[in-house]
Amino acid sequence: MTGLLVDNIGELVTNEAGRGEAGPLGIRRRAALLVEHGEVAWVGPAADAPAAERRIDAHGAAVLPGFVDSHAHLVFAGDRAAEFAARMAGQPYTGGGIRTTVGATRAASDGELRATVRRLRAEALRQGTTTIEIKSGYGLTVADEARSLRIAAEVTGETTFLGAHVVPPEYANRPDEYVGLVCGPMLAAARPYARWIDVFCERSAFDADHARAILTCGQAVGLDVRVHANQLGHGPGVRLGVELGAASVDHCTHLTDADVDALASTRFDCTCHEGGHTRTVATLLPGAEFSTRSPYPDARRLLDAGVTVALATDCNPGSSYTSSMPFCIALAVREMRMTPAEAVWAATAGGARALRRDDVGVLRPGARADLVILDAPSHLHLAYRPGVPLIRQVLHNGVPR
Ligand SMILES: [Zn+2]
Repeated sequence: MTGLLVDNIGELVTNEAGRGEAGPLGIRRRAALLVEHGEVAWVGPAADAPAAERRIDAHGAAVLPGFVDSHAHLVFAGDRAAEFAARMAGQPYTGGGIRTTVGATRAASDGELRATVRRLRAEALRQGTTTIEIKSGYGLTVADEARSLRIAAEVTGETTFLGAHVVPPEYANRPDEYVGLVCGPMLAAARPYARWIDVFCERSAFDADHARAILTCGQAVGLDVRVHANQLGHGPGVRLGVELGAASVDHCTHLTDADVDALASTRFDCTCHEGGHTRTVATLLPGAEFSTRSPYPDARRLLDAGVTVALATDCNPGSSYTSSMPFCIALAVREMRMTPAEAVWAATAGGARALRRDDVGVLRPGARADLVILDAPSHLHLAYRPGVPLIRQVLHNGVPR
């Protein structure tokens, strides 16, 4: 007899379409789930549960896949609480504060950066995030980008090289030269620690030509593409991401019909989700709109066009200093007219799609045993009871935390 049985689950969200009740969440009632060797070994009715070495009684609560936060900037020093206060007092957000964090990050020791990454990773885990993507982007020198990724890689396999976050002040009038640095020595130094490459494609950061050059260089050395796109205004980022086969275009706050059509054109059929998926996911980051007091992205327009949507925190010290996926779910439901089921799916399976992962964000045999037990009978409570600590217990790789 081996394994760990999570028993007496009132509502099990599997994200396996067509397996449980109708809808994207594949809900099973009165279920149990067996964990062996860090993986889900069996899912079925509680009445049929196999014997196991250990047992967790969920007491009728809801159990969900652990959250997949596919967009976070955790490697930084200092905070920008004063900037936040100024913004709440009426100053607009321009993205310029990134340079403040760059200065603090460059001045920090490895130990300080590591402590911040670990503190925030632990904070996210307590709130149910079992997979997290972490970007560089506050170093912006060869050495500082490489060490940011090295430190991020200590806590996650989903690391993203974002040397093209902004043009650092010392290159202010020489953006071409900075792009050359990013594509050359910086990419070479970052490559051993990175899975993804990303660019902040925005009027105040990198234009389409620079963004295309950087992303293409990353692809040439085996990095996969994701893009910060269309956050502060209309622009070429989303269509560039689609053109380059990006796994995800992130923010998507200001979209034209052509942007939505481009995303929808990447749809393909699959057995895992009714209506298929889009190869390029739209990752929405409502924490950023909340924290910058900006209009939210139009999630309904994307969903109604058949675009796959993910939700993520964008956790960073400037524009969204939250690590809470439940908070983002609540915002998506209240402010972006996503249904609770759509929001929960986007925060779990959607995030997995945005990272091109099929072993997380889902609870089926063979998937990683990453799950959360809520202090609530249903996933609905994540939006219905905002701000309440509803994560009773987290299993990460099958290990209770
Ligand atoms: Zn971001």
